Amino acid sequence: MLSTLGSRRRVCHHRAMTAVADGPQRTDGRGARRSAAASSVLRAVLDEGPIARSTIARRTGLSAAAVTGHTAELLRRGLLRELPETGKRGVGRPHVPVDLDTGRHVAGALHVAVHHATVALLDLRGNVLVQHEEPHDGLAAEDLLARAAEILDDLLLGHAPDREPLGLGVATGGWVDRASGTVVDHPLLGWRDVPVRDLLTASTGLTVAVDGHARSLVHAERLFGHPRARDSVVQLFTGNVVDSAFATGATVHHGPRSAAGAVAHLPVDDSAEPCRCGRTGCLEATVSEATLARKAGLPFPELLALAAHGDSEAVRMFHDRARLIGQAAALLLDVLNPAVLVVVDRSIAVVPSCLPAIRDEVGARSRRLDSAETVVGTSFPGTELATAGGAVLLDLLYEDPSYFTNSQN
Ligand SMILES: [Zn+2]
Repeated sequence: MLSTLGSRRRVCHHRAMTAVADGPQRTDGRGARRSAAASSVLRAVLDEGPIARSTIARRTGLSAAAVTGHTAELLRRGLLRELPETGKRGVGRPHVPVDLDTGRHVAGALHVAVHHATVALLDLRGNVLVQHEEPHDGLAAEDLLARAAEILDDLLLGHAPDREPLGLGVATGGWVDRASGTVVDHPLLGWRDVPVRDLLTASTGLTVAVDGHARSLVHAERLFGHPRARDSVVQLFTGNVVDSAFATGATVHHGPRSAAGAVAHLPVDDSAEPCRCGRTGCLEATVSEATLARKAGLPFPELLALAAHGDSEAVRMFHDRARLIGQAAALLLDVLNPAVLVVVDRSIAVVPSCLPAIRDEVGARSRRLDSAETVVGTSFPGTELATAGGAVLLDLLYEDPSYFTNSQN
């Protein structure tokens, strides 16, 4: 258990980084080009670090002088570090390799699931350094967010006392408006128009960014996960909340007020499960963890543990559910034709027959002939919720490294 000693906010005493006022939306052409160039340098180091400046120039198409300038700025801000020169002698600084400095900063992360919140710290490579699960049944939104801020504080003090928090990324299911940092509607949590970003900014003093968890996991796959996700990707999230996200190239589709990705009420075959919308046979009502738990008469984690140990009845339930998930995956695959479709589902990592069952169903329904290669599990099994939260923030960093500026400057 984490200490709850002292409820006074301490985050403000960390040397927190803050977002610059105009952030990534800067409009003047020169600033945008500078940001894009700094972004491509930082991403080249993420992908291939340790990497020599000369190699960065080759990979990014930037001039050697531009790479030197951006690298110097990223070094100064503690986002990169220089490694000792190896091998080649007498070729000068351009061959001194640089890498991400994963020891200087941390990204705070919060994911709000239906029954518990996950608070975590991630490094610049998206590795989860520590995560804490906090049950929150019965807590109002404001109280839960205040509690999450306290836990974040404890994690920073206990696990990263010497590191600078970049800020706090927040992800949840339902309808999340990234631009306003608001959870517009999350029926399973009972949240409507909750100003999450403003509440957490006030309680932590950190830069806070909020997005839907499926979209955020798209960012995570594109940055740290599946290589094909950079072409185009559909993310299908099947927990208690069931939703999705789609990206093509570098663009994650949001649509007006970020309402894209709602697949909860997609009809599935052979289901008479009543849904809160008044109809029967909706995807979320049919495959949600709560429905499976109710059918089994067991809490979901216990049912999952039984299946993991090979209990045939439990495995059969997950297998049947996987085929239903496969129905939705096949439809999304045909509508959006992505290079890869990522299913985020807790059963995939622990019940070996689940992913093959999803793929079989996709294969039987989709026009695509390559379902086995196209449908994959998440790259972050076991840390997907923490990763979803952290990626909201890390995506901003890699999109525009100048979004965050050191407060001591
Ligand atoms: Zn419905």
